[in-house]
Amino acid sequence: MSIYLLGADVGGTKTEVCLLELADGKAGASSGAVDLTQYKVIARERMSTDKARGLEDFGDRLKNLFEGILSKSNMKMAQIKSIGLGLPGSIDPLSQRQNAGSITFFNGFNLAQYFSKKLGYSGTIYLDNDANCFALAETYLGAGARWARAAKVPLDQLCMVGITLGTGLGGGLIVNGQLIRGRRGGAGELGHTTLIESGRPCYCGKFGCSEQYLSGPAFEQSYAMRASASSPKKGSEIFKLADQGDPLAIATIEYYRDHLVQFLSNVSNFMDPHIIVLGGGMSTQKRIYTGISDRLSSECFLTENPPDVIPNECGDSAGVLGAALLGYWT
Ligand SMILES: [Zn+2]
Repeated sequence: MSIYLLGADVGGTKTEVCLLELADGKAGASSGAVDLTQYKVIARERMSTDKARGLEDFGDRLKNLFEGILSKSNMKMAQIKSIGLGLPGSIDPLSQRQNAGSITFFNGFNLAQYFSKKLGYSGTIYLDNDANCFALAETYLGAGARWARAAKVPLDQLCMVGITLGTGLGGGLIVNGQLIRGRRGGAGELGHTTLIESGRPCYCGKFGCSEQYLSGPAFEQSYAMRASASSPKKGSEIFKLADQGDPLAIATIEYYRDHLVQFLSNVSNFMDPHIIVLGGGMSTQKRIYTGISDRLSSECFLTENPPDVIPNECGDSAGVLGAALLGYWT
């Protein structure tokens, strides 16, 4: 028997929704027992988040988008087991309030209640941080599931850290197949762990946060600082320049990789996961993985057999798939 889940990945500029079909997971409350690799995305749509138009307008448009994909799929809201929303902020698991989110109109009130009413949905609405959704999708539908199958590690024993290296740096922690949210929903906020004492200023108010060295914009900034007279370049252009032998681009990538190794060795010392799965724009660049395993060996406290650092497999869909999965096991 199949179950149907709706998910939405709400980003700063775009919001994506999907209707996901999976085999019934009731037997797999211990999630490792269920093979989710046979999932089917029945429909997917996108809209502009358009933050300037405010919460009510966003809620109305999200409702229309959900109703649109249900109607195209000849389904009704009543057939949906749960709705999951991935947001760019920390969601307090008890109060369902978002804290420190970049879309500020979501901050400070019970979002599950709000969206239940707004969407006219009587089932449960789950909310989580977007990097947590990434980690969940990669664990069950992507790189984690594939790695675990090959290594014969049951998913309910898999420990994995998902890290998104995109506009910012997000983290999601999976221990024994379960997402670790923390007391206030702030577990895995790895982008604001200090990497360099008195380093680059961060919008969070601190200096030297890992996000300021490892996000896509940080990488571009590193190149611009080296090539002081040149106009700013996009990350993908810098990697192309490196392929052509440009010494500044090569040095910028080395600098980035040095910081990545430092950061991942901290993550590894903290969690000792089986794998670290990278997402976001920077993760698509093969050069950042070069020699990373050997270097982690020398940087980690436990030098033998460091965690595999691998690229994601769900691509841009990880956020919305993970959001849809949030209510799967309930
Ligand atoms: Zn910060």
